Amino acid sequence: MTDFNRTRQAFDLPSGITYLDGNSLGPMPTSAAERVSRMMSEEWSRMLITGWNKAGWYAQPRKVGDRIARLIGAGSGQVVMGDTLSIKVFQAVSAARAMRPDRRVILSDSGNFPSDLYVAHGLAAAVDAELRVVAPEDVEAAISDDLAVLMITEVDYRTGRRHDMKALTRKAHEVGALTVWDLAHSAGAVDVALLDCDADFAVGCTYKYLNGGPGAPAFIWVHPQHADKARPILQGWMGHHAPFDFDLDYQPAAGIERMRVGTPPVIAMTALDAALDVWEGVSIDDLRARSIELTEAFIARVEARCPDLVLHSPRDPLQRGSQVGFRHPQAYAVMQALIAEGIIGDFRAPDVLRFGFAPLYNDLGDVERAADGLARILANQSWDRDDYRQRADVT
Ligand SMILES: *Cc1c(COP(=O)(O)O)cnc(C)c1O
Repeated sequence: MTDFNRTRQAFDLPSGITYLDGNSLGPMPTSAAERVSRMMSEEWSRMLITGWNKAGWYAQPRKVGDRIARLIGAGSGQVVMGDTLSIKVFQAVSAARAMRPDRRVILSDSGNFPSDLYVAHGLAAAVDAELRVVAPEDVEAAISDDLAVLMITEVDYRTGRRHDMKALTRKAHEVGALTVWDLAHSAGAVDVALLDCDADFAVGCTYKYLNGGPGAPAFIWVHPQHADKARPILQGWMGHHAPFDFDLDYQPAAGIERMRVGTPPVIAMTALDAALDVWEGVSIDDLRARSIELTEAFIARVEARCPDLVLHSPRDPLQRGSQVGFRHPQAYAVMQALIAEGIIGDFRAPDVLRFGFAPLYNDLGDVERAADGLARILANQSWDRDDYRQRADVT
């Protein structure tokens, strides 16, 4: 059994705070600060340029990728780190589309995160493809034999609705299309089985449930059967098979390394590497069971105490990720009032209160405090203040 008391203690959470926003930014593992500080004083400062070899900075994107692979049902040597998720979406979708040159359609759904859709739209304009966007519940029916790429975010960032990766991948393959799965709200939150689902490409960020810190590098996975064929399109020197030959002709590295672009963010990746230590000894099946326990308890307690709120997430836990949304016409102000009481979730336009549950550090006490705080604020209307209606830059 996974010891979630141990994992909770690994985080440096401010006292008096109930943190239910790890689906936007995971909290800091105490060891991350120590590790980064050591990297600065012992590696950057002392080794200077030799750190690329001596401290293993150059190999770090693949080594850290191997640690993520275990959490998403992939094998070692199949995942590499770097850049932001938006860039990794571009790389995966462009590579997949290039493998189906006689087809034009990229299919996604309106529950996808806007950045993924913007990237796919920009790519479609550049390569004369078409981005087709349907409602999340219509994706399966929209898979047709003109499809090049199915680009889906497995867990909807607003509702927590979870797509069936295995079924959609099978259907896409039946019509000859390739799949790109965005795991932004899946990695470290639900049980992901990329190889078992026979997915083609996957990408994700590491600052949400993986707790790598603000701006932590993204990851990309390519199925081993495609990894030596997929063209990176963003052909950077670090994805070249011999970067230090400084050859003027681009030749992709073997396998997943070709998806590297430029110099990796070593400091950020060091913080992420420390954050991944917390996952040692965590069983993903235990994590999923615990996540379901927490979200079920939260829904039950909120529904029993807050008649004004409407559940905006699937009721069936098997169709839900590790977050819960409730709708309220004044959701923004309600969330500001909650945050003022030390209960941190977030707001997603137009009217959703969103709460992420991360079993690594959330427990049933957090569930109770958040549900009871919400009930109190709605009952006494303490959210009804002008300053709580002022929108900040980041919501
Ligand atoms: C969080 C998130 C992003 C953010 O992309 P960045 O490039 O890391 O800012 C993109 N897509 C999805 C689905 C997300 O949930």
